[in-house]
Amino acid sequence: MKRTQEIIQFTKQPYIEDVGPRKIKSIQFSLFSEAEILKLGEVEVYRGVYYESTKKPIPNGLLDPRMGPPNKNGGCETCHGNFRECPGHYGYLVLTLPVYNVGYLGTVVDLLKCICKCCSSILLDDKERRVFLKKMRNPRTEPLMKSELQKKVVKKCTSMTSGQKSVTCSKCGYMNGMVKKGQLKIIHERGNRFLDEFNAAISHKIELKTSVSVPPEIDPKAVYSLFKNMSDEDCELLYLSDRPEKLLVTSIPVPPIAIRPSVFVDGGTQRSYAIIFVL
Ligand SMILES: [Zn+2]
Ligand SMILES: [Zn+2]
Repeated sequence: MKRTQEIIQFTKQPYIEDVGPRKIKSIQFSLFSEAEILKLGEVEVYRGVYYESTKKPIPNGLLDPRMGPPNKNGGCETCHGNFRECPGHYGYLVLTLPVYNVGYLGTVVDLLKCICKCCSSILLDDKERRVFLKKMRNPRTEPLMKSELQKKVVKKCTSMTSGQKSVTCSKCGYMNGMVKKGQLKIIHERGNRFLDEFNAAISHKIELKTSVSVPPEIDPKAVYSLFKNMSDEDCELLYLSDRPEKLLVTSIPVPPIAIRPSVFVDGGTQRSYAIIFVL
């Protein structure tokens, strides 16, 4: 019997087991996009407090009853179940500015090494780009080979900008320097040639001379818009199965109240662990 291919959708409805065994053909891991986190969440959490002065959970706070009963006596406002029945529901927290995901900082740096820091196109020239893309698209290329190819692309782009060397983007003419990882930040050194040109450009403005400097750091907001601007073809060339902007965190899912560890302290009051305070 042949089953039609189904796509798993994350919904707010509880999961109900389907009848009959299934054969798993393939598994693909990917990152949550902001839209998916928002879709998954029941309520936006933007208040870092628990209770009102009347001991009632604050709406849009960390114990909003739409994420499940806030205590044993309360009820859930999403599924109307009690403490035992409600499976718990997610909330979401939208960040004002994107931040790096420490786990992907290395990948983000590798990608930045390969793209123009102005127009987001790949730094390879057209001929090389076509050769790599052809190899990458070849159906006979194994996944392992593809990741080797991706490493080659990164190496090639990195070698273009090592030391004080900078490379001019063939698409927009922007001067790209060396990208390296700093302490939880990404540094973009654009080289002596850029600094000479920069100094020459501002030399006639005497009043600016002392106050102007080029910030060498690339902030996550700039990285996010650069990645968002990347073409699908360049993503393919860098062996990305998903959009690169997902590597940065723009919103955080808030776990249901039921799965957040809490302890009872003297007098029967409930306390959540310090990790929850971070939210
Ligand atoms: Zn519920
Ligand atoms: Zn460019």
